[in-house]
Amino acid sequence: MKIGIPRALLYYKNEKLWTTFFNELGIDYLISPQTNKEIVSNGANLAIDETCLPTKILLGHINYLKDKCDYVFLPRVARAFGCGMCTKFLAQVDLVKNTFRDDNLNYLFYNQEKDKPTSEYKAFLKMGKFLKLKGKDIKIAYLKARSAQDTFNMLRQEMQEKTFNETTKNKVLVVAHAYNVGDEFVGQPIIKALKSLNCEPIIAEYFNAKECIKASYNLTKTLPWAYNRHLVGAVELYKDKVDGIVILTTFPCGPDSMVNEMILHKVKNLPILLLTMDAQDATAGIETRLESYVDIINFKKERANE
Ligand code: SF4
Repeated sequence: MKIGIPRALLYYKNEKLWTTFFNELGIDYLISPQTNKEIVSNGANLAIDETCLPTKILLGHINYLKDKCDYVFLPRVARAFGCGMCTKFLAQVDLVKNTFRDDNLNYLFYNQEKDKPTSEYKAFLKMGKFLKLKGKDIKIAYLKARSAQDTFNMLRQEMQEKTFNETTKNKVLVVAHAYNVGDEFVGQPIIKALKSLNCEPIIAEYFNAKECIKASYNLTKTLPWAYNRHLVGAVELYKDKVDGIVILTTFPCGPDSMVNEMILHKVKNLPILLLTMDAQDATAGIETRLESYVDIINFKKERANE
């Protein structure tokens, strides 16, 4: 039995959780490759126009996997940190099943409907039972998997904080969802371009989620989406310690369009660049915009030192 894991959306928050869980249980899996133009184009052809780019990318990855595995792995997470998810996350399973309704795909998923401390474990237990695994084995695999993901997140945060404190380069806070900043087609070209311009990209997503979400309430009491709260909270915590902010968003995203405006209005005296990606032009022209943006940061710093 082989499980196909789409390298999209929740993968970028749960890679260690998922792969450790399957490794511990001796389950074979295949992760789809890094996003490329073909995957994006196939996903875009399968989706209706109104679908956001990350969901189109998800469809492209499932399209890649559909003939190469026995089950497509498609978890659903409805809540986190006391907040909800955007409707695209809630509808993901139905959307995929309808899109591939003629392909007779088998799906493996866990459904995390609530965000109580045991909700994730119960969801994994149910999935393991579906695979006819023993409860004890599932529990051990899950605990190791959760620990692996937590350790990974903590080390990544520590590394970023060390860089943050030690770098002499321009610090640019990159505000983007995990599945955007981590994606080879969407976010990584921006990260590479910033580095080539002698900037240190500081990834909002890599800061501690709980601390960021708590801080987000200083900016807004009503924002309903957990992942956006994480990003807004990182802005609140670090806006006075960076030289600029790059907001990287994808088209069309309802939550981001609202939150981006909020950041633009609430953060003053800091150069902010808003970059919006879509399936057509992706990163075309981005380097020139980033160059101009970094010139503004340098100019502002020079003026401050006069
Ligand atoms: S938050 Fe935006 S980009 Fe992310 S899944 Fe929802 S609509 Fe798509």
